[in-house]
Amino acid sequence: MSDELERKYEVEIKATEEKQKLSKELKAELQESGMMDEKGKLKLKGVSPKMLKRMKQEYVDCPVLKDNTQFIQCFVCPNFQSRVMGKVFCKGDPLN
Ligand code: SF4
Repeated sequence: MSDELERKYEVEIKATEEKQKLSKELKAELQESGMMDEKGKLKLKGVSPKMLKRMKQEYVDCPVLKDNTQFIQCFVCPNFQSRVMGKVFCKGDPLN
């Protein structure tokens, strides 16, 4: 099996009606990696505005951090592999 397919968890993506605020740290990280402009607008390649809006309301119950984690945060996590059928494929390595 290739490394690409190695994963420890398949984490279900959940949605909340509430608006989730992105932390300062996460914003800085997104901006640094070019996924957010200076105005704080998310710019993810190949993701439509409609999908982005949806993503902002999603979260996962992260098995590594043992806490609810916004999907956007999960998306930029080094353990994130892909999103398939409402699940995150997660490598499951320890995070600092
Ligand atoms: S990719 Fe990162 S944030 Fe997402 S579930 Fe895995 S460890 Fe948690």
